[in-house]
Amino acid sequence: MTTRDLQVGTAIARRGEKISGFIEVDDAADPGARIPVTVVAGAAGDGPVLALVAGTHGSEPSPIVALQPVRAELDPGALSGTVIMVHVANVPSFVHRTIYRGPWDQKNLNRVYPGDPTGTTSERIAYAITTEVIDRCDYLVDLHSGDGNEALRPYAYWNKLGIDDRVDLAARDLALAFGLEHIVVDTGRPRDPRATQFTSNTAEVRGKPALTTEAGAVGVPTEEAVALNVRGAFRVMRHLGMLPGPRERIEHAKWINASEVLTSPATGLWYPDVVPDQTVRAGERVGRVTDYFGQAIADIAAPLDGVVLYVVASPAMSAGEPLAMIGRIEADVDAHVYK
Ligand SMILES: [Zn+2]
Repeated sequence: MTTRDLQVGTAIARRGEKISGFIEVDDAADPGARIPVTVVAGAAGDGPVLALVAGTHGSEPSPIVALQPVRAELDPGALSGTVIMVHVANVPSFVHRTIYRGPWDQKNLNRVYPGDPTGTTSERIAYAITTEVIDRCDYLVDLHSGDGNEALRPYAYWNKLGIDDRVDLAARDLALAFGLEHIVVDTGRPRDPRATQFTSNTAEVRGKPALTTEAGAVGVPTEEAVALNVRGAFRVMRHLGMLPGPRERIEHAKWINASEVLTSPATGLWYPDVVPDQTVRAGERVGRVTDYFGQAIADIAAPLDGVVLYVVASPAMSAGEPLAMIGRIEADVDAHVYK
């Protein structure tokens, strides 16, 4: 892998340069988008191409805000390899303040990969990021947080895809390097390259180790959440040998090998009983859904013992939408390095 001139959208960076520009997604039946990107081409030596993607969900601002100091602080003179930053992948969702889905097509950008150049806005954005970013990188981190309605404790997903051990173990090491202690072991993602659905999974299926992180919540970029994202980005760069300095990794990860996303059986109002990081027992009530008049429709119980990773913190609720995610931490976490 060598540091070379790299073009992403209108941003062309030569060795030693930090250049920003846009990936243009043309208008079609629905509006297009201008996706802001920065390419930093290191002058210190050869190295990999790392993609940092923020704003796949537009109402998850902590990673979006975090990429501004990352951009400012990243010195091309000290960098080996190349960093591609996608500052806001889902610009329509950010600008129009939508959660989960884009404003024009009501599709979730993180379910439509690898995208379609003749599809709807979200599908065209996914296609542009697949071809302009994922196809050009060696490693990828897709930076999420709780969406605008979600309270969340920080965690990461290790996508243990099962196609290639090398990719899986390198992805695990990215998770340990990023530095969020709670790591959900996700073995259920699709392997069909034509239906990879998720940003990070699209990279993984193409043989590129990738990571999804969750740090931040409820549409508010707290100083602490922004700092976790900034710290994680630089830790990954040092881990990959792209910047000088110690390679750190989580020594005692809390591996979450069983988890469940609870979804609402009905449309109405959601009253959570729990907060992020709270421990719950199987069968314990985590909240209830009522109709618009206050009549109970359903009590929602935890399906397993575990910790609340995220929980919807505002009342609006639709049938089939997420209410909360519970994860069970593997008991004997220190006994081995998870394989
Ligand atoms: Zn997200």
